[in-house]
Amino acid sequence: MKRKSLMAGNWKMHTTAIEARSLAADIARKCPETTDREVLLAPPFTVLREVAEVLSRTDVILASQNVCWEEKGAFTGEISPVMLKDCGVSSAIIGHSERRQIFHEDNALINKRVLGALSFDLMAILCIGETEEEQENGKTFAVLEAQVRQGLQGVEPQQMEKMVIAYEPVWAIGTGKTATKEQAQEVHLSIRRLIEKIYEKNIADRLRILYGGSVKPANVDELMSQPDIDGALVGGAALDAESFGRIINFI
Ligand code: PEP
Repeated sequence: MKRKSLMAGNWKMHTTAIEARSLAADIARKCPETTDREVLLAPPFTVLREVAEVLSRTDVILASQNVCWEEKGAFTGEISPVMLKDCGVSSAIIGHSERRQIFHEDNALINKRVLGALSFDLMAILCIGETEEEQENGKTFAVLEAQVRQGLQGVEPQQMEKMVIAYEPVWAIGTGKTATKEQAQEVHLSIRRLIEKIYEKNIADRLRILYGGSVKPANVDELMSQPDIDGALVGGAALDAESFGRIINFI
């Protein structure tokens, strides 16, 4: 089954308003004309409006790097789906490994965010991935299975249209180490089979599963050539328009 690729740039905690405008404009100029792929940018909350304005006449999807599950209320430091939509956001990254590791977000909390995003019709990008230690102890699939099952708890089959999963091995994020295309393909296929078990084949076939972890111009083509890799979630290289431009124009 042919799925539309999704090439996502996560700017993490980088860019002031001026920098964000200029980076978004440079990336927008490099977006391919082809209809087989989508490009998504996830800038910090503080520059969402600026980036939304720059992207307003493009097809680039604007995403947030996190989202609360409530519309409003006493949730100091959080940002609601309604506020994000008000800034032009249509998608949210949820459960990034930095949220899990540095801010101790667990699967239950991440699940609340997923359900909140979907209930306000945002596309939810659920990030999963094993640590180096878990990988070395042969626990990769057990960890991923728990992250998927608990992260998707209560997500109805019809809501899966709005779900994306990003497989990001923690040992590959920002380290320069990338999973080989064979390693990544094997894991992506096992995630798809798990989704088939939880839901059904049709849903598994349609689900986009992105790879993340030191994706660069030099490795994007081989990763994207794999049948179950439907896109990339890119950190470091997304802050450089030249590099991200090459990544979104993968062959
Ligand atoms: C990420 O932040 O999701 C990521 C994959 O980072 P990097 O591309 O820098 O490894």
